[in-house]
Formats: sequence, C-alpha cells, structure tokens
Amino acid sequence: MADISFSLSGRKAMVIGADSGIGLACARAIANAGADLVIGGIDPGKGEGLAREIGAESGTKVSYVAVDVTREEQVAAAVKEAVARLGGLDIAMNNAGIPGWPGAIQDQSAEQFDTLFAINVRGAMLGMKYQVPHMLAGGKGSIINLASTAAITGLAYCAPYAASKHAVAGLTRSVALELADKGIRVNAIAPGPVNTGLLASMRAGRSALPASPGGAQVPMSRVSEPEEMAGAVVWLASDASSYVTGTLISIDGGVVAA
Ligand code: NAD
Repeated sequence: MADISFSLSGRKAMVIGADSGIGLACARAIANAGADLVIGGIDPGKGEGLAREIGAESGTKVSYVAVDVTREEQVAAAVKEAVARLGGLDIAMNNAGIPGWPGAIQDQSAEQFDTLFAINVRGAMLGMKYQVPHMLAGGKGSIINLASTAAITGLAYCAPYAASKHAVAGLTRSVALELADKGIRVNAIAPGPVNTGLLASMRAGRSALPASPGGAQVPMSRVSEPEEMAGAVVWLASDASSYVTGTLISIDGGVVAA
C-alpha cells in the first residue's frame, strides 16, 4: 500500500536559493511539513534570521548556509555542510534563478547570456551533482528543480531566460532517468507568473518592448503568490508522489493550456 501522507517528518531537506520568493515560501512549507532543513542563499545577513524564524514556526531544525551557485566549490561546500548538520539528505530544491536582461535577440550580450546560464542552468546542475551522492548513500531522495512555463513555451524578448528553463527541463528529465531505479525522483515545477522580485524586474525590463503576438495571458486573470507553489513542492518531496519522476508540474493559472 503506497504511503499517501504529505508529512515530511524526519526528512532532511535543503533548499538552495531560499532568500526570497518561491524558494523561501517552499522552504517554509517543507519545514512546516516536518522536515529538518538547511536553506542556502547569497544573503547571509537575511538568511540567518529567516532560518531562525522558520525553525521557530516549524519546530524543526532549520539553519542557513551561504552559497553562490555560480561557484562550484561553494555548492560543494554548502551541500557537504548541510549533510553534516542534517545527518544525510533526502529532499533538495534547486531554486536559484534570475530573469536575465529582457530584450530582442539582436540586443542580447554573450556575457549576460553566460551569467544567466551560470545561475539558472549550471547552478541546478551543480546542485544535483553534489546532492545525488548523498541520496544514493541513503537509498532515497526527491529533487525539485525550478523550471517555468518558459520551459514549455517561448517567451518573447526573454529568449535566454526561456532557453535556460528549457535546459533545466532537460537536466531534470535526464537525471530522473539516471536515477529512476535507484529510489531517487527528480522533478521540476513550472510556475506561471509569481508575485516576486524576479517577476517585477522581468516586467520592468519588458515594458519598453513591443507587445508580442501570443504573449501569455493568464486564464485565471491574476499572478500567483509564492505560497501557491508550495503545495506541489511538498507533494513532490513526500512519498505521496512516489511514482512521479522526470516530470514538469505546471502551476500557472492555465497559461500552458491556453
Ligand atoms: P526571487 O528573486 O525572489 O528568488 C530568486 C532566488 O535566487 C533568491 O533567493 C536569490 O537570492 C537566489 N539567487 C540568485 N542568484 C543566486 C546565486 N548566484 N546563488 C544562489 N542563489 C541565488 O524570484 P523567484 O520568482 O522566487 O524565483 C525563484 C525561481 O523561480 C527562479 O529559478 C525563477 O526563474 C523561477 N520562476 C519564477 C517565476 C516568477 O514569475 N516569479 C516564474 C517561473 C519560474
């Protein structure tokens, strides 16, 4: 009989890119579902306080580790430190991402493209590279990456961002296949517009650009709040999703259906 509990009691979780927005909301939900947690980010001044606040709310062990996902040695050290504090690792969320620099393809810069990919794609790859050995050692695990509806459809004037999220989808599906018979599941969520700093800066960057044909309208006529991502993430982290791997879960108010 499958376990259909959403409880994460006794689980050992790490969320990378948890200083704000979706990562913070999901970290909070993972701890509130019972997991001990290490949150990682680039803003220790803020992160230490967030960890204390989440831990007080959840009653689980929550701490912070500084990590810039563009630096491989920092990702390796952060995962090692998380495993030492938690006594293992069986849930990991690779959330760090930036919107890049919206603009027409002829105005894109190679350097900015590389910066975007270093965070959105190489960051997720490095996260998994260092998380997976610990999950293999423990014989189980669930990894949740951050894709986007822009991993499924195009996004005019954000071609590098959409390409980065298509790449995250490819990483997710491929690593899921590598680990499918080893007790480790790898999935991604594909949010539509979420009310965060990233969305605000993407919209500000696109505001001076021409409207795009087929530009995504949200059938539900609103953006989501970061907390609306958390239910699917807790489900993907839990045994209630035990047969789910290699998939992108759209949480998008109907964007991809339209
Ligand atoms: P956000 O700006 O609030 O969060 C981004 C997080 O990534 C922050 O915590 C930031 O500190 C972290 N980060 C950035 N660069 C980093 C680095 N080099 N190393 C470590 N951490 C780094 O925005 P958000 O919307 O919550 O974004 C979270 C994820 O969700 C991103 O991957 C984003 O692409 C994805 N997403 C967002 C939306 C949206 O509409 N907001 C839609 C689809 C997907």
